[in-house]
Amino acid sequence: MIDLGIIDFMENPTIEDIGRTPNEFLASLKKPTLIKVKGKDTTRTRALATLLHGNEPSGLFAVHRWLRLQEKPSVTILCFIGGVYPAKLEPIYSHRQLPNGKDLNRCFKEPFEGPEAEIAKAFLDILHEEQPECLIDIHNTSGTGPSFGVTVKNDAAHQALTSLFTERLIVTDLRLGALMEYSEKEVPTVTVECGGAQDEHAHQAAYEGLLRYVTKQNVISLEKAEWGIEILTNPVRIELKPEATIAYNEQPQADADITLPPDIEHQNFGVIHPSKSLGWLGPNGLDCFSVLNKNQENIASKILRQEGNQLFPAQSIKAFMITTNPTIAKSDCLFYAVTDKGEQII
Ligand SMILES: [Zn+2]
Repeated sequence: MIDLGIIDFMENPTIEDIGRTPNEFLASLKKPTLIKVKGKDTTRTRALATLLHGNEPSGLFAVHRWLRLQEKPSVTILCFIGGVYPAKLEPIYSHRQLPNGKDLNRCFKEPFEGPEAEIAKAFLDILHEEQPECLIDIHNTSGTGPSFGVTVKNDAAHQALTSLFTERLIVTDLRLGALMEYSEKEVPTVTVECGGAQDEHAHQAAYEGLLRYVTKQNVISLEKAEWGIEILTNPVRIELKPEATIAYNEQPQADADITLPPDIEHQNFGVIHPSKSLGWLGPNGLDCFSVLNKNQENIASKILRQEGNQLFPAQSIKAFMITTNPTIAKSDCLFYAVTDKGEQII
């Protein structure tokens, strides 16, 4: 292990270096760590980041499992294990970020101030130096939903990269300082949300995608017919107003502004028709929702409608990242939506 200051560095680690289990591997890491594995072709490099959120371990598990194979990748691979500090807080993999720290995946932008931003800047400097042909960032979703990719650019390279891991790609105009914005440096970059952190399928999806990423000769220029990727553009966030209350129940709960059935997650990524009841509303009706468009206008009534005490879509929509966790529903958002064709709702 070489100490580069903010980031530790390992090259071609042996099985002894990485431990028998992912937890031994994590225990051996002292800092955010960069692992370089020389490829058969050393003139090309691909980069991979993971654990930027300490409670999203599928990518770390995948990297460990792959490193244990001790197989030479097709090109040189750089693996960046980001959120080592939050991930190591007991119980391990329970902290997205340090208790008083910033979200590392919001720090890949100016001004680089604070410890997380220094880590982000150090990794960006490495990318600049190493000039990878592409970059993948592996995450887990907060719920148990299916996998998807997220990108700021939608072209052949981004679709091809996504197709290594999943069949859906969300394209967003939002710029939050996430690593995926590295696409703007002409390096195709995709965030992969491979499913829930507790979900064995997510660990498997991350591993299988990673194997394709490190073994294929070409990962950014597949034939168009091979992709079959579903594109979802600029989803809007369906948020609850601060004073609104939410419950999950099979029947309307009298003291809640919104009641949703506990199996509402089954609607993730399917088309929901306007005749499909989503749940129930209290006396405040649709007023408890806030859905802001680019101009900060509330467009809740374009997405949701009320009939009696029931909640329906206002048009055919695709909804995803629907949460059944009331804390996330309140503090983040209830779900994301696009039209049934995957287009932006304006
Ligand atoms: Zn994440």
